[in-house]
Amino acid sequence: PRIRRKVTSPRAPLLLLGMAMTPLKTFKVQGGKVLKVSHESKATKTPMEFTVFLPDVAGESNRVPVLYYLSGLTCTSDNFTSKAGAFKAAGQAGVMLVMPDTSPRGAGIAGEDDSYDFGTGAGFYVNATQEPWSSNYNMYDYVVSELPAFIEEHFPALPGVKSIFGHSMGGHGALVVAFSNPDYASVSAFAPICNPSSCPWGDKAFTGYLGGDKAAWKQYDATELMTSAGPFPWLRGGILIDQGANDEFLASGQLQPDKLQAAAEAKGQEITINMRDDFDHSYFFISGFVDDHIAFHARALHAVAAEKSTAQLAAVSTGFEATQGKVIKCKAAVAWGPKQPLKTEVVDVAPPKAGEVRVKVIANALCHTDVYTLDGLDPEGLFPCILGHEAGAIVESIGEGVTGLAVGDHVVPCYTPQCNESQCIFCASPKTNLCPKIRGTQGQGVMPDGTSRFSIDGKPIFHFMGCSTFSEYTVIAAISAAKISTALPLEKACLFGCGVATGLGAVWNTCKVEPGSSVAVFGLGAVGLAVIQAAKISGASRIFAVDINKSKFPMATQLGATDCLCPSDYSKPIQQVIVGLTTWGVEYTFDCTGNVSVMRAALECAHRGWGQSCVIGVAASGQEISTRPFQLVTGRQWKGTAFGGWKSRSSVPVLVERCLCGELQVDQYITHRFDGIESVNDAIHALHGGNCLRAVVRYA
Ligand code: NAD
Ligand code: ZN
Repeated sequence: PRIRRKVTSPRAPLLLLGMAMTPLKTFKVQGGKVLKVSHESKATKTPMEFTVFLPDVAGESNRVPVLYYLSGLTCTSDNFTSKAGAFKAAGQAGVMLVMPDTSPRGAGIAGEDDSYDFGTGAGFYVNATQEPWSSNYNMYDYVVSELPAFIEEHFPALPGVKSIFGHSMGGHGALVVAFSNPDYASVSAFAPICNPSSCPWGDKAFTGYLGGDKAAWKQYDATELMTSAGPFPWLRGGILIDQGANDEFLASGQLQPDKLQAAAEAKGQEITINMRDDFDHSYFFISGFVDDHIAFHARALHAVAAEKSTAQLAAVSTGFEATQGKVIKCKAAVAWGPKQPLKTEVVDVAPPKAGEVRVKVIANALCHTDVYTLDGLDPEGLFPCILGHEAGAIVESIGEGVTGLAVGDHVVPCYTPQCNESQCIFCASPKTNLCPKIRGTQGQGVMPDGTSRFSIDGKPIFHFMGCSTFSEYTVIAAISAAKISTALPLEKACLFGCGVATGLGAVWNTCKVEPGSSVAVFGLGAVGLAVIQAAKISGASRIFAVDINKSKFPMATQLGATDCLCPSDYSKPIQQVIVGLTTWGVEYTFDCTGNVSVMRAALECAHRGWGQSCVIGVAASGQEISTRPFQLVTGRQWKGTAFGGWKSRSSVPVLVERCLCGELQVDQYITHRFDGIESVNDAIHALHGGNCLRAVVRYA
């Protein structure tokens, strides 16, 4: 199955356009876009309109969880869309929102438009059993079955990862749906009708749709369901309800949250009901708390998504016993010589020796250093070799004497190891991450015992940067393997193997940028953008982003850049432009281009007296940097960083945790995705195009 290849360019339409569906309208909103859609419903036998919010991170191959929102009486899918102010939070959380209508429209039933609380705009999310409503008013089936199937078919939704919330009649609908269907991760509501069987709205609607037999009402009544079937252990975080204390419908007995609370408490069901002083029943109330509800659902949804992907990978690891101690034959993209395309070959991967681990690579992000070596620009590049050094992998087997790692662990291979031996003065010093333990053999393309684990027909193939992750299996030194949480999908975790971690560390470790400082970043690839992201988190107040490619500016701005500059827009050298904009220069500057004249510009716009300039970019071999010594005499400092100063094995797991708790977003760096090791050449091609940050190739 892994032969299937899919290419997604960042400009490809996010929508998986199927038959029978074209958006009626599309709006750009903060964090994503909103689409109004109409489709023919089988459940209601009418056209149904709904609205979708697609977060920016969603794409054909980055499917996201879905949060359904059910509206209240008289509403359409537009009320929440235009009044709740939910999109920025949903965009940040990487969650898709889907807002269906509240009833069929235009079914042609006599009297359907006569009252606000029955018929059109008041479907109550039930399947009607009474004539004339029963053939069209089947909103329960529509919301629970038909709409999710449609969404998963036509939009980049993670199959089966969904939650639901709603307001008033929609709060009732959300509670009933989530109580009866264990595939919802979480539920919440604003001012829900909690016990419709015993309030005027519910009495009228249920009598009309379901008939006079109250036994038939119970399946659509949250309080009754709680009493008969609660608690509902699949609902993560319990049940969350917000209720305005000044809500006229609370006073008139339509809502009755106390009844649901009592039923829940009797059943030991976790429930949180927040009474909000002075708030009423309107969207003025909802907009104040919608971010809390989205965060509540995002936690549950991402946890379910992570569990599903971990379960899939656990199934992978169960096969490992069969290969342990044996040579594995697998596919690898082999670089036979400089400037030649990689060739997919079947390679032999020997078992790990003492102090080594063999890992199954799940995802690999392409970095410029791989391409640089392949292009023959590194005079020390050794061929034939297996490139690749930004990966997420699972330990398949461990060599003799390896401690702290076990089969099935998720790891990020790190080209800067961390031996932590007591006699290693580098590991012992807080000033550096440059552990030299295996430096010699790593540079010679072999393992610490001087031999390679890769061969084709008995002919050895060189390792690269101690990683060689363009192979389905690779062998690395145990001191190069950072063990990480299994909760973060490996196609994201791989980013911490090089570029993104480097940019973050340059700011946090190498320069220790303080709140309120000014920063300038030259080169807005993944490394430069990570510098901006880190500077923003550190509280930098002004962030200059410089690139010759202006298409990088929107992302830079989104991550926190305050000024975007393109050198070709100015007749003066860019360092003079920046000094002119700041009087004395910028406190911290970063080269993320690898171009030595840019490094000079970065130094020369550093602040008189105390500015620091950090070289991150890797220059072509033989290049030298220069400036007038007076620049240093007047207080500027020139420094550099390798892997952002991170001590790899102790720091990469922490970065992964920061990503899991939502403090660090990395989805934006993955602009391209490919499947199968055969597509590494396509990924290299994408990286050569100007709009690629990271191209991730998934092997399994
Ligand atoms: P990238 O190619 O994606 O980004 C480089 C950016 O620089 C591009 O947007 C390009 O348009 C811009 N640029 C090129 N010339 C420029 C100029 N004269 N002025 C302004 N902008 C210019 O690369 P990346 O993956 O972000 O990596 C950046 C650099 O960091 C590379 O040299 C890479 O090898 C290096 N790197 C270093 C370390 C380390 O440990 N020090 C780790 C990873 C990457
Ligand atoms: Zn790299």
